[in-house]
Amino acid sequence: MSAPESVDTLRGALLYQGKAKQVYATPDPTRILIHYTDGATAFNGLKKANIADKGAINCKISAFFMEKVAAAGVPTAFERNIGDRDQLCKKVDIIPVEVVVRNVVAGGLAKKLGLAEGIKLPSPLVEHFYKSDSLNDPQINEDTAVLLGWAQPHELLAMRDYALKVNAVLIAFWAELGVDLVDFKLEFGRVALDGSVGAPTAVVLADEITPDGSRLWERGTGRKLDKDVFRRDLGDLSETYRELYKRIFGESL
Ligand code: 5GP
Repeated sequence: MSAPESVDTLRGALLYQGKAKQVYATPDPTRILIHYTDGATAFNGLKKANIADKGAINCKISAFFMEKVAAAGVPTAFERNIGDRDQLCKKVDIIPVEVVVRNVVAGGLAKKLGLAEGIKLPSPLVEHFYKSDSLNDPQINEDTAVLLGWAQPHELLAMRDYALKVNAVLIAFWAELGVDLVDFKLEFGRVALDGSVGAPTAVVLADEITPDGSRLWERGTGRKLDKDVFRRDLGDLSETYRELYKRIFGESL
């Protein structure tokens, strides 16, 4: 009889130490365990803090949204939560191209173009960034990604299509809660279609959908309900995330 599924029976070697997450091997080579920590960083690791319960809050929020977007036709690497802070996911080959979708001018776009934050875009803007900590994730275009071999044209098309579907799902969800979705970042990966080496691959949404990688502004007040609270010293991020949790799940953590 195999041991019951738990973090202890699933967690193998540490494969990757991220800024807010750790990735572990599992007994199944096609699956990984993602562990959400309370760590928060900003400005590519220059600013760091521990935010009480952030890991548990983000683990639950990301699972909730991954299931929602999967139901809307976006394939994801997420399988299920194991306990409060761990997720069993398909092991993917991460595509080193981050996709940002923007509905409102803010953050990097405002800074780069000298624009005021808050200008509503007439339709969603999809941007691409090269995933590289040492280079601070520079913006690229899709030609760059193709010509440097980071992603194939059909993969970029799928990523754009999925990112816009995620945007539509999230906009509608947050609107019901009186929150405007300003922008967010997604990461994608490849999974082998039949699990064998060299088999054809499909693009799936990987990583997370959390307020760490999104901008969420309260409708009417413009109050920030995302990691900008930490990046810009606007208040207590733990309290902000607890409030988001309560809005989403109708109960306190
Ligand atoms: P910006 O380009 O304005 O800095 O970021 C656009 C959106 O993508 C924001 O919602 C931001 O949270 C998210 N984003 C971009 N890069 C990163 C990153 O490296 N880490 C996280 N957590 N979010 C990111």
